[in-house]
Amino acid sequence: MGETLIEVKDLELHFKQKSSKLFSFHSDCLKAVDKVSFTIKKGETFGLVGESGSGKSTIGKAILRYYTPTGGEIYYQGTEIGHRKESQMLPYRKKMQSVFQDPYSSLDPSHTIREIICEPMEIHRLYTAAERKEKAEKLIEVVGLKKVDLYKYPHEFSGGQRQRISIARALSVQPEFVVCDEPISALDVSLQAQIIHLLEELQDQYGLTYLFISHQLQVVQKLCDRIGVLYLGSILETSDSAALYKKPLHPYTKMLISSILPPDPTVNALDEIVIESGVQKRTEGGCKFKNRCQSCMERCRHEPPSLKEAEPGHWVACHLYEKSHEITGS
Ligand code: SF4
Repeated sequence: MGETLIEVKDLELHFKQKSSKLFSFHSDCLKAVDKVSFTIKKGETFGLVGESGSGKSTIGKAILRYYTPTGGEIYYQGTEIGHRKESQMLPYRKKMQSVFQDPYSSLDPSHTIREIICEPMEIHRLYTAAERKEKAEKLIEVVGLKKVDLYKYPHEFSGGQRQRISIARALSVQPEFVVCDEPISALDVSLQAQIIHLLEELQDQYGLTYLFISHQLQVVQKLCDRIGVLYLGSILETSDSAALYKKPLHPYTKMLISSILPPDPTVNALDEIVIESGVQKRTEGGCKFKNRCQSCMERCRHEPPSLKEAEPGHWVACHLYEKSHEITGS
């Protein structure tokens, strides 16, 4: 793996929200993403893992420029795209594609599969009509379906097949980078491994770079080269996948890893480790994890820890690891 393809630097996405107080006309600020930094190298799969509300999907959408950052920068091969005008984003929209969680709502039910796969090529004015048809015929087979399926409608397919169609559509414009946002969460356990295997094959075949977003730890471990653990909009730990699982450093990551169940033949492996949701609470000041941390010290209550390199290539935001220098990215 070589050059950096994506660099996210001090990314902030703050949203105004109405005050919960009755008769209040003030708005509060929700820091959905709070100074997040990471890089993704060409050909790499970088995993973002976190509970619901941790900001992982918001980061993916910001990189795709569905949102404009309220702070920080996003670089694509060294060019800042986070604050580009929409009119200047078209070349990057071709390079960056996405596969989302729900294959039922992401495919237009009134269009044939051929129209759905050809649409991105039409938007980007690629190829002649005959070439687009030829490409669609090739892509539908690449994702494991048949040419005859091009003339059917989305309702005629299962969830797994629809996700294959979503992947074919994403690949139709020959992207370099794909944001996979919980692409298997809505699927039956038996289909999850098949879609992961397909994504791995396509990465090898087309040299793709993935940002893989998931709340399922085991999925991220299997697929990703490096992982960032998100909590309430901040990265608490980032490292290569093997090191993170072998020797987690942050108390939150340790908690997640220790929740891995012993092998149970009645439970599918991909479904074993799902991050508990609904237990993170936003509190002002200090470490964001302080209310759930058994190692919490007095300074943790008022001094937020910053991401530091505790071991080579292994970064953690926790006052328990103080010896290393501070960084702005990984
Ligand atoms: Fe726990 Fe303190 Fe580390 Fe936060 S900084 S994870 S509260 S020990």
